[in-house]
Amino acid sequence: MPGLYLHIPYCKQACHYCNFHFSTTLHNREGMIEAIVQEMKLRRAALPSVPLASVYLGGGTPSLLTHEELNRIFSTIYELFSISEDAEITLEANPDDLNLEAIRHLKDTPVNRLSIGIQSFSEEDLRFMNRAHNAIEARTSIEYVQDAGFENLTIDLIYGTPTTTDRQWARNMEIALEYDIPHISCYALTVEPRTALAHFVKKGKVPSPDEDQAVRQFEQLMDIMELEGFEHYEISNFARPGWHARHNSSYWRGKPYLGIGPAAHSFDGDRTRSWNVPNNARYMSGINLWAEDPSKVPPDLIEEEVLTDDQRYNEYVMTALRTIWGLDLEHLRQMGRRYANHFTARADVFLDSGHLLCEGENYRLTNAGKLLADRIAVDLFV
Ligand code: SF4
Repeated sequence: MPGLYLHIPYCKQACHYCNFHFSTTLHNREGMIEAIVQEMKLRRAALPSVPLASVYLGGGTPSLLTHEELNRIFSTIYELFSISEDAEITLEANPDDLNLEAIRHLKDTPVNRLSIGIQSFSEEDLRFMNRAHNAIEARTSIEYVQDAGFENLTIDLIYGTPTTTDRQWARNMEIALEYDIPHISCYALTVEPRTALAHFVKKGKVPSPDEDQAVRQFEQLMDIMELEGFEHYEISNFARPGWHARHNSSYWRGKPYLGIGPAAHSFDGDRTRSWNVPNNARYMSGINLWAEDPSKVPPDLIEEEVLTDDQRYNEYVMTALRTIWGLDLEHLRQMGRRYANHFTARADVFLDSGHLLCEGENYRLTNAGKLLADRIAVDLFV
């Protein structure tokens, strides 16, 4: 079943490592909400007319939205789309926004899953990352949402930062487990171009992330999560049985989704990807122009790419191997026998080295393989 993604492009402050699309200038939010509502109206036919399995409000920081703004967005979603009764409706939230009043308002919306950007429970790590919250808010946000009855929770954590010792990383996981959170996403710190972190590294103000440290902490993570009964169902994602993220799982399994908002990406479930202009002002003026004449999509508003057969193969290899469902050889045969042949010829070396495992016609990365996931995928590409 298809999914709907809404990108809310505002943040209180810029985290040093982040290269997502957002603005810290919060004025004209009203215009942005109206543009997002308009875009949903203009593009509702882009999704198959079956009930949506998931709605995801990401960003940016959707928890910055007021109660009225959220109501406006959700009333439009429910007016325009059919939403499955048991749909997963996620909102990304930052700990500093999750005060008691905001949580009470959230309980009045259709949101039934919260994704909290904790990143670390250590003050030093949070300062290094320039997060807007502190270590106390990291904890109280979880306590407040759990007290309010939000069971379906996920938190993001970052490892491999220069300030994160192995001991602190173990402590971060221990705290997450103490709260009995059913889903945890963990990412290694990376230095992305055009971020404050890239600038600091270039100037020698902070060291580059240490690859050995990241590998060690990823191994620590896999060991602890396995011991605690979590499924490592995607390379960065761990869930208790039955608590997989449905929205993200749909991405990884090639289901269609419609992305609304500046910089949002869409996929038709076959071979067409598109993405909205990653600029708030241009997005809003483009949508306003489109609304004036719905027969003409303004140039520069949405870019589109039709994947070639080779690109589809590469994407499938890259994504499928990173998941618990693995890569299905029959699926490759359906793409063309030459792809299945290419894959099996290249995969042998990784089967021998213990980086891949094969059960019947299904291939997955082993834990050793997960440490080299990107390099292995590139080797299997056409
Ligand atoms: S809050 Fe999230 S989207 Fe905003 S700057 Fe930080 S990491 Fe990026």
